[in-house]
Amino acid sequence: MARGSVQIVVERCKACGFCVEFCPTKVLELSSAFNSKGYHPPHAVNPDKCSGCDLCGMYCPDFAIYGFRVKDTKAAAAGAEASAEPEETSDAS
Ligand code: SF4
Ligand code: SF4
Repeated sequence: MARGSVQIVVERCKACGFCVEFCPTKVLELSSAFNSKGYHPPHAVNPDKCSGCDLCGMYCPDFAIYGFRVKDTKAAAAGAEASAEPEETSDAS
């Protein structure tokens, strides 16, 4: 179950591959599709492994990708107020 999600702004990508290289859980691969500039943007091949750490976003020189944490939607549905996880854990080193 994914604890995070990743969004890719395909048209900004220049296919440097940093996000693919630095993702700790190997969520990403460069796709075979082209964007309008002729680059191959990444896509999530293992979205379930995304932790939302946003390392991809930190390394991307073009602000074309970002990761974010998501709350457990089942827990949220079961009891929104009970599933309080109000943190911005930025243990970024
Ligand atoms: S780091 Fe950014 S520019 Fe480089 S491949 Fe990933 S999304 Fe594209
Ligand atoms: S947010 Fe983290 S785990 Fe998810 S794709 Fe980006 S680097 Fe990988």
